[in-house]
Amino acid sequence: MKRVYTADNVAMAWHVRNLLEQHDIAAIVRNDKLYSVAGEMPVHECLPEVWVEEKLNVRRAEQIIRKLAIPVSEEGEEWNCGNCDEVNAASFDLCWNCQYTNDAID
Ligand SMILES: [Zn+2]
Repeated sequence: MKRVYTADNVAMAWHVRNLLEQHDIAAIVRNDKLYSVAGEMPVHECLPEVWVEEKLNVRRAEQIIRKLAIPVSEEGEEWNCGNCDEVNAASFDLCWNCQYTNDAID
């Protein structure tokens, strides 16, 4: 068993789990019933998690989830790296090419 995803909400966790099942990857959702005690626990320990049963499937599951995580339309402006002048998506804090930090943030 390996955790492959931590969701913001239960619906998202089940969405990811169903998606993995569609790819013949057996997965379960954990922490989907812990909201009643959320006030007494650190929030990050209460977030629903998706776990993959077969170790062999973990890498594939992570690839499927990564695709899911890419926003359909990028918010904000692209920025040019101050070091190598590469164009970076607004969601990147670091230049993908040289890891230079985006000055525009902060
Ligand atoms: Zn750069």
